[in-house]
This record gives sequence, C-alpha cells and structure tokens, in this order.
Amino acid sequence: MSTKPAKPSFWHGIARETIPWFPTVNADKCIGCELCFVTCGRGVYEVRDHKAHPDRPYDCMVGCTTCANICPTQAITFPDRQLVQKVEREHKILAIVRQEATAKRTKLEAEKARAQAEDTVAAATTRMAFHIAGEFGEKRFLVKLEALIKDRPFDIVNLKLEVPTLKGALEKTPSHMTFEVTSTDQQDVAVLLAEVRQLLRDNQLVLVHEARL
Ligand code: SF4
Ligand code: SF4
Repeated sequence: MSTKPAKPSFWHGIARETIPWFPTVNADKCIGCELCFVTCGRGVYEVRDHKAHPDRPYDCMVGCTTCANICPTQAITFPDRQLVQKVEREHKILAIVRQEATAKRTKLEAEKARAQAEDTVAAATTRMAFHIAGEFGEKRFLVKLEALIKDRPFDIVNLKLEVPTLKGALEKTPSHMTFEVTSTDQQDVAVLLAEVRQLLRDNQLVLVHEARL
C-alpha cells in the first residue's frame, strides 16, 4: 500500500511529504469502531480486518489531531505539536501565510459580491403581467403606454385586446386588455410598473390583476 499522495501536495509552500505529521494507530488498542474512518474529512483512513489503517498519511491536515481526540481507546497518536512549530520557524511560513490570507480574503469578498449581485437579480422584477379593463379607444391608452417605454430599456409584449362585441364597444362596454411589461436587458422594471399603474388611474382603467412572471 503506497503512502504517497496521488499528486504532490504542499503545506504553505512546503512539500507535504517532508513534514512527518500523520497519525499512527496502535493495532493492539484499536477496536475497529471506524470512528476515525468516518470522521476524517481527508480520507486518511481505511479499515481492514477490524483495524484502522492510515493508508494516506500525507493527506492528514498538518496540526490536526481530531481523530486522536475522539478515538475511544486512545489508539491514535501524533508527533509532539512542537514539530509543527519547528517546521513553521524553519521555513519562515508566516510571510507565505500573509499572502495566502490576502488571497483568501479577496476570494471571499469576490464570492460575497457575486452572491449579493445574484440576490439582487433574483429579487428584481424583470417581467410583470397586467390584466386591465375599461375603455381604451378614445383615450388612446396604447399611445400613452408606448410613450412610457420610448427610448428606455423596457418593452410591452404579448399585448391582447378583447372587445366583447363590436356593438358593445360602440356602446362603451368595457373591453379587456392583457400585456406584459418587461426589460430588454434584464433590468428591474419596478420604476415602469409604478408609471403604468399611474397611467391606469389617470385613464380610469381598472386593474383586474397583475402578476410577477
Ligand atoms: S477510532 Fe480508534 S478504535 Fe476506532 S477504528 Fe479508529 S483507531 Fe480504531
Ligand atoms: S488528524 Fe484530522 S486530518 Fe489527520 S487523519 Fe485525523 S482527522 Fe484526518
């Protein structure tokens, strides 16, 4: 069984295989409970014949002693922690750690900014359906609606006008209109929605229903 990692790995710039930090299992004490195998997030252990085997010792996180702390029979031991501090001193890793900390902070901030941007897009209303009723012809509602989107990144789509009967329309029976307010570049249409609602009020039209799409 090879104890070498599949790929060369490094701990703060130091070849991991040059740092003798890994668990040793006392087979006489091990009862094969598999707690270490289940707990280690780095896949260091295998269990064979009811005994734990740290088959991938160099995958162990330098300085970690979790498996030793939880082993019910204290079968797992590690080198003295001073070994880690000696490696830190000899390799002067603190300058490298500072660079890594800066890179980590930059990455976290970029991820946070991306998540916030995604939340903003998700929260934005980019399409809203309207169902309205009233008299449209004489009030030239469509012309006013068109004026609202002129030279702006919005559009009115799927517009349908239902006139119950031609005679009814002549007698000023209310007609129904449906349309969708949308953005041509995925912007929030909230500003335009407020203007459309105001236009409905100004034209004594009835807002039957509106729904975010
Ligand atoms: S936790 Fe301890 S007793 Fe349990 S399998 Fe691992 S080494 Fe053995
Ligand atoms: S010390 Fe941590 S990383 Fe290393 S083998 Fe144990 S649980 Fe895994």
